[in-house]
Amino acid sequence: MNEPVVIIGGGIIGASVAYNLASLYSLRNSIVLEKSRLGSGSTSGSLGGFRHQFSNETAIKLTIESVKILDQFEAAFGYDPLVRRDGYSFIASEENSLAQLKKNLELTKRLGINVEFLKKGELQWRFPFYSFEGIIGGTLCMADGHASTLAVLQGYVSKSKTLGVKFYENTEVIGISVEDGEVTAVVTAESRIETSKVLIAAGAFSGVVGKLAGANIPIKPYPRKILVTHAFSSSIPSEIPLIIDVDSTLAIGREGNGMILADNEPTDSSFELSFPANYDDRVISKAVKRVPSLANASVAYSDIGLYEMTPDSNPIVSEIEGIEGLYCCSGFAGHGFMHAPAIGRIMAELIVERKTHIDISEYDLGRFGSEKAQNSERLII
Ligand SMILES: Cc1cc2nc3c(=O)[nH]c(=O)nc-3n(C[C@H](O)[C@H](O)[C@H](O)COP(=O)(O)OP(=O)(O)OC[C@H]3O[C@@H](n4cnc5c(N)ncnc54)[C@H](O)[C@@H]3O)c2cc1C
Repeated sequence: MNEPVVIIGGGIIGASVAYNLASLYSLRNSIVLEKSRLGSGSTSGSLGGFRHQFSNETAIKLTIESVKILDQFEAAFGYDPLVRRDGYSFIASEENSLAQLKKNLELTKRLGINVEFLKKGELQWRFPFYSFEGIIGGTLCMADGHASTLAVLQGYVSKSKTLGVKFYENTEVIGISVEDGEVTAVVTAESRIETSKVLIAAGAFSGVVGKLAGANIPIKPYPRKILVTHAFSSSIPSEIPLIIDVDSTLAIGREGNGMILADNEPTDSSFELSFPANYDDRVISKAVKRVPSLANASVAYSDIGLYEMTPDSNPIVSEIEGIEGLYCCSGFAGHGFMHAPAIGRIMAELIVERKTHIDISEYDLGRFGSEKAQNSERLII
């Protein structure tokens, strides 16, 4: 293949795919076009969390493979991704939510990852700083944790550049030419790049970019905000799991010496990073009920960005049927960082070999609008 693969979007996904195309298949002339700065989209909002607890089996496999790559990342890329396994704990107050958590636990354990089930009393004993009033139980996976999104992004970008990949910032794609059902070129304000392979990795903008080629990619943007407190004096250990109440959607965890607080109550789809006027107060008051010492904390800043959502909350990793040479790799909701290492390899395989080493057929675009039962991911945080 002499023509370049053109990747639209310079976030963690686009960078990982570019690296894998160059390193696995020697496609060193790939081009990444980014309308702003590399990593400035949803990737800039990512807290670097990774978890193995999902209701979707493929998602668990993607985390397992991605974490293996993160564990070897410094040796391969020269950047320490600062992996720490501080755990994720999902807790529930409703019986049906707890039943779902137990199902997820069984699935995760079947794939070889240890997850504990904790009754309310055990949760309280393990995490005394948190009030589990009304909670009936939960799960804890200490293989889950956090890493540095920016270190991983930088690793992929730097290594790709040394292999020959070109990254163009401040370069917006404004057109995708399709002739006789085949991609022929990508158009920016300054240039037209002839190519027969184009990957849409434009995060929350993937639906908009798809329209440039006449493709219907059902990805919508949802604004997301996470409050981060200043360091404050309390008896909360310096390392705690991210604790997510699946019924109230409240998530509380550590960020450096401060704490992160968020909820994920339904919002309208929008590209505007605006939030209800009462968002901060709502989250803080929920959080103080659970962790009373948070009453002494103050918010230092908030981490905001867009979640890129599909109708079933699973991503689209797919060729676009009807447009030869057009692909989409997007719609990762809150999981794009943790799945980027494995997905980069899988997407490269799909582009070059049309087959992948992990079956991702359920992430095919064709699932929407077909009779196929949609297996929605149930754990979105
Ligand atoms: C607040 C927040 C916290 C999160 N925390 C986590 C976490 O802990 N763990 C986790 O795994 N995930 C997390 N995520 C999700 C994760 O950040 C995303 O899933 C991931 O970054 C998506 O990467 P991407 O490359 O697909 O998209 P993006 O990073 O959005 O990259 C797409 C790029 O495409 C560019 N683009 C768009 N249109 C065009 C165009 N026409 N031409 C050229 N370029 C274009 C955009 O400018 C953008 O830079 C979080 C997200 C948010 C918002």
